[in-house]
Amino acid sequence: MKAAIEQEQSDVRISFAEHEQALDAVSTLNIEFQSKAKKNYKLSTLNYKKMPHPLHQFHYCPKCGSQRFVEHNAKSKECLDCGFVYYFNPSAATVAFILRAKEEGLKAKDNWELLVTRRAKEPARGTLDLPGGFCDMFETGEEGVCREVKEETGLDVTSTQFVFSLPNTYLYSGFLVHTVDMFFLCQVRDSDICHAMDDAAELIWIPLQDLRPDDFGLDSIRLGIKKFLSNFPI
Ligand SMILES: [Zn+2]
Repeated sequence: MKAAIEQEQSDVRISFAEHEQALDAVSTLNIEFQSKAKKNYKLSTLNYKKMPHPLHQFHYCPKCGSQRFVEHNAKSKECLDCGFVYYFNPSAATVAFILRAKEEGLKAKDNWELLVTRRAKEPARGTLDLPGGFCDMFETGEEGVCREVKEETGLDVTSTQFVFSLPNTYLYSGFLVHTVDMFFLCQVRDSDICHAMDDAAELIWIPLQDLRPDDFGLDSIRLGIKKFLSNFPI
């Protein structure tokens, strides 16, 4: 059993260079990279081309300050002096689909509008987005999406339903942050009482038939809009 576990662990020990090669090789969302270690990696696209591995910027051991802080595997660095190992994992983030009906009782697709924001900040400032953001520590995805919707729109979410998740990359402060974006269908208390705040410069209700995924600046949001429209849950 121990031998089997060691074998499995060695299979995922691809290098930083192979990770970067994968980033360079992939040019569209969800193309699979088959690494030398026979492991499939699905990567998203935003700004990753020619980007060094995120851990290249970590030169010193954060525990003892040693310069002998070296590549451990594709996901981690280790300190050769104190033994500290740091794994670089994606951050959890949430995205909200909030719908309202133009006419009560009508269920047709063209009766529904989606709440869309315009990004107030980089990256992709000025493009369309959906309410959402990073999860805080010790917070559930459901709590995170409720908090972000409140912060950006003032709306009170009364129920959440997980729809799907997508990997994404997000360039912030010259650093490529990897995320797992969790999409939730959210019911809100009173959809008419909302106003743009925080990361949102503007709120727009867009009829579903008028949504254009290319207007959304972040990769996972653009793909999420496409998936949502193709599997419209109502
Ligand atoms: Zn150290």
